[in-house]
Amino acid sequence: MSLLLLLPLAWLALVAGALLWHRRGLMALWREPLLGHPVLIIESDDWGAGPVEPQVLALNRLVDLLTRYRDRAGRHPVMTLALVLAVPDGPAIRREGRYRRLTLEDPVFAPLRAAIERGRRAGVFALQLHGLEHYWPPALMASRDPEVQSWLEADTPPATERLPAHLQSRWTDATQLPSRPLADAAIESAVREEVALFERLFGERPRVAVPPTFVWDERVEAAWARAGVEVVVTPGLRSRCRNATGLPDCDSGPIVNGQAGPGVRYIVRDDYFEPERGHRAAQGLAALQRKWAQRRPCLLETHRSNFIGETATAEQALAALGDLIEQALRRYPDLRFMDTATLASAYRSANPVTADLATHWRAWRARVRERRGFMRCAKLAGLGWLFNPRPVPAGGPAVHPA
Ligand SMILES: [Zn+2]
Repeated sequence: MSLLLLLPLAWLALVAGALLWHRRGLMALWREPLLGHPVLIIESDDWGAGPVEPQVLALNRLVDLLTRYRDRAGRHPVMTLALVLAVPDGPAIRREGRYRRLTLEDPVFAPLRAAIERGRRAGVFALQLHGLEHYWPPALMASRDPEVQSWLEADTPPATERLPAHLQSRWTDATQLPSRPLADAAIESAVREEVALFERLFGERPRVAVPPTFVWDERVEAAWARAGVEVVVTPGLRSRCRNATGLPDCDSGPIVNGQAGPGVRYIVRDDYFEPERGHRAAQGLAALQRKWAQRRPCLLETHRSNFIGETATAEQALAALGDLIEQALRRYPDLRFMDTATLASAYRSANPVTADLATHWRAWRARVRERRGFMRCAKLAGLGWLFNPRPVPAGGPAVHPA
C-alpha cells in the first residue's frame, strides 16, 4: 500500500479512535445545560465551630460589604457558608478519656449564630452543610500524633485548619494511610446526626452539602439524600480515599453540572479565590470569563481563613472581594447572583437551556478545551484549531480544596 494511502488511513483511525474513546465525556459536555446569564457565587467553607470572636468580626464585615452590591434583578451577591457544627470539647475529653463534642448549640457560640443569622436575613449568606465535624472523630482519637492529641484536648474551641490535612477528611478513616472506608452503619448514623443538628440550629434541613476536603463516596451521598439533602458540591470528580502519601485519591468522574447521583444533583466548583494565597479580582474575573464562555456558573471556592487571619491580610481579602464584585458587575451587566440551591433547582427544571445551535457549539468547544486527554489527541491529528480560541489564564491553583 502506498504511503499516500496509508497516511490518510492512519489519520482517520486516530480521529475515530479518539472520538470513540472519549465519546461519553464529549456527549456529557454537550448534554450539560447552558446558562442564559453569567452567574457568580462565592462559596466559602469552614465557618462555624471554632474560634468565636474572629469569625463574628469577619462575618459582620462580609455582610456590610456584600449588602452594598446588587445585580439587575435587585439581588445581593451571595456567599454560601459551608458550616462545621462541632469541635472537640477539650476539658470534657481530658476528664472522661473519650470523645466529647462542643456543638454550635453551646452558649459560647451565640454571637456567632447571631452573625450568621444577620447575613442570612440580609440575603447575603446561604447556609450549607460541611459536616458535624471537619474530621472523623474515631480517627482523631486513635491518632498517635501528640499534636493531634493536644489539639483534641485544647481548652478553647480549636481551628480544624491546624490538623494534618489527611485527618481533616470526614468520610474516610485516615488513622492509617492509605485510608480505609467507613462502615455503612457508621455513615448512616453520622449523616442522620449532622442533618438533625443542622435543622435544630437553623430551623431547616440543609439542601446543599459540601464534603470536607472533597473526600467522600456514593454511600454518603445516598445517606444525605435520605436525610433530605438535594445537592452535592463537587470539584468535578469524587475522591473516595486518602492514598499512602495522604493525598485525596480513588477518584471517579468527571462529573458535570446538573448531573444526577444517588438521590442528589451535582454542582461543580473548580475555581478558587483565596486572597491569602495571592488571588485578587483579576483571578476571579478570569474564572468568570472562562465559565461564561462555557455557559456554566462561576462558583469561587474560598475559606474563612482568608477573612479571620491577621488584620492586614483579612482587610486585603475583603478589599479583593469587593473589587471582584464591582468589576464583575461592570463587565457583565447581566450578571446574576444566587445561592447554590437555587442554581441547582434551575438545572433540575432545565431552566438554563436557552441556546441556539451556534451558541451551543461555541460553549461545547470551550468545555472540550479543558479535557486535556482529548485535546492531546485533537492536536496530534492537527485538529486543535477547531477548539480555538485558546482559554483565558487559569483562575489559580487548587490550593486548599474544601
Ligand atoms: Zn473545609
